Amino acid sequence: KRRKRLSAEEYANGIIEGDRIILSRAITIIESKLNEDILLAEQILEKILPYTGNSLRVGITGVPGVGKSTFIESFGKYITSRELKLAVLTIDPSSQISGGSILGDKTRMEELSNDPLAYVRPSAAGSALGGVNHKTRETMLLCEAAGFDVILIETVGVGQSETTVKGMVDFFLLLMLAGAGDELQGIKRGIMEMADAIAITKCDGDNIRKGQLARAEYQNALHLFPPSETGWSPKVMTCSSLENSGLDQILENILEFEKKMKDKGYFQSKRQEQNLHWMHETIESYLKRAFYSDEDITKELPSLENGVIQNKVPAIAGARKLIELFNKKRNFHFED
Ligand code: GDP
Repeated sequence: KRRKRLSAEEYANGIIEGDRIILSRAITIIESKLNEDILLAEQILEKILPYTGNSLRVGITGVPGVGKSTFIESFGKYITSRELKLAVLTIDPSSQISGGSILGDKTRMEELSNDPLAYVRPSAAGSALGGVNHKTRETMLLCEAAGFDVILIETVGVGQSETTVKGMVDFFLLLMLAGAGDELQGIKRGIMEMADAIAITKCDGDNIRKGQLARAEYQNALHLFPPSETGWSPKVMTCSSLENSGLDQILENILEFEKKMKDKGYFQSKRQEQNLHWMHETIESYLKRAFYSDEDITKELPSLENGVIQNKVPAIAGARKLIELFNKKRNFHFED
């Protein structure tokens, strides 16, 4: 049976008071695709917006197996040990399907989940590549309004998701393995360019020396990238989540970044750009959704596609015809 629906006002007040149950319920509304929820979500967001902007937003990425969830658990506990309130938006492993098998029979981040200063929200990634769904950004804003000092957002180092996460965080941390094969170098370069810092994971036991070598190697590789206009040079560090080593240095680096960027004004200007960019992204995705779910469009589309395949209709003419058809009605709906 359904729980009583709260008003936007009640949700917003609960969130601002730091009520986790209400926060969780509001996030569920944010993630919902029901028409009535979409409007309620917007009203909640509008009300909490004045209370957002005060946390440090950190994205964490790396290939599967690099040690993300173990790192977030250890690093998260280190953060709360510093009396900072932490929200973690993680990938729900049960919703991640990889090569036909379901990952994550283990419970992730169990200790952190029980930490009173931490709030762990697995995002219902569904089919979203890399575990970042289209509402991760709004979820982050709700957590921010709930008073968390630091927000960690996890993403898997595959595909488009880094770019999406990079576009919503202040600091982007890339986790890397020492001595990972050359086949990874291709994705590494592009992702390395996005990183504000790199941490080599699993630097314990026999891996310490290899980790230090990799650290020097990656630091050299970063020197080859053009310097950023902000003047920040990404640092490569080593850590072990099992031995809790190097975590302090990583947090120091993130806090140093925050201070420097705030002093220079880049912190705020980046967030302004991100907000603006997000509005345009959202417009595009709303429009696209409305377009492809339009009755007339779905009716006309197959025959035009056919025409394009058989080279009877130029692609741009097909597109224009459909857009004209869509434009004729101009009644915009949100549903899928
Ligand atoms: P994810 O797929 O990136 O989330 O990686 P996991 O956190 O699940 O870790 C993958 C494997 O690496 C697990 O078997 C972990 O126990 C192991 N691992 C993670 N962190 C460390 C570490 O600091 N040291 C060592 N030796 N192993 C680690």
